[in-house]
Amino acid sequence: MADTVSERAKERRPEMSGHKGIPKGVVLGKDGKPCRTCASFRDWAAMTRKNTGSTAPTTSSAAAAAGAATATPPIDKPPEDCPADVETLGRGTWTFLHTLSATYPSHATPNQQSDMRAFLMLFAKLYPCWNCAQDFQAWMQKGGNEPRVRGRGEFGTWMCEAHNEVNRKLGKKEFDCRRWEERWRTGWGD
Ligand code: FAD
Repeated sequence: MADTVSERAKERRPEMSGHKGIPKGVVLGKDGKPCRTCASFRDWAAMTRKNTGSTAPTTSSAAAAAGAATATPPIDKPPEDCPADVETLGRGTWTFLHTLSATYPSHATPNQQSDMRAFLMLFAKLYPCWNCAQDFQAWMQKGGNEPRVRGRGEFGTWMCEAHNEVNRKLGKKEFDCRRWEERWRTGWGD
């Protein structure tokens, strides 16, 4: 029985636990089925084979050749009216979270601080990509990473550091946290 957040996560990550028939990048949900909001559209489509545009069975070589000529390249982004994948969900959520810090009072009252701490705890628990949520909770619980919510300045910087933690995990470029306010509150001034 797994007793830590990361051990529980490993139990449901097929790429870590060696599940057969489920491609890397697709993660199982708590119901044991592939989790759509935990995977990119690309990985999800690879699994469901609905994204290649050229895999429909053909009955003749002429039809196969025609299919190859008109094959549409795989689509990386979900159409706008499709359920969110991990990236669409992430972008929208970061917009919300950074805007939340940008509109936070510069000096928060004790009540506002405890509301924000409570929100962040619940957010990290309920975020609908469960493996993202578990890693985020684990990061928040590490010493030195507790939410800093006394006012906008430190909260915005904390949120930027939280986002950079995910950027690092995904191999993305880190953001310069001295500039979070230009990106999310004042604009770049150009
Ligand atoms: P995003 O990372 O979504 O960033 C949006 C914009 O924010 C950028 O264009 C940039 O202008 C700005 N920005 C970037 N970094 C910072 C920063 N540090 N501070 C301020 N502004 C910044 N995806 C996974 O595949 N696996 C995960 O485990 C995972 N965990 C996540 C956990 C949380 C809590 C959230 C909210 C999202 C998570 N995601 C995860 C999604 C992931 O972070 C991205 O949102 C997604 O990959 C889309 O990335 P993007 O390149 O479009 O830009």
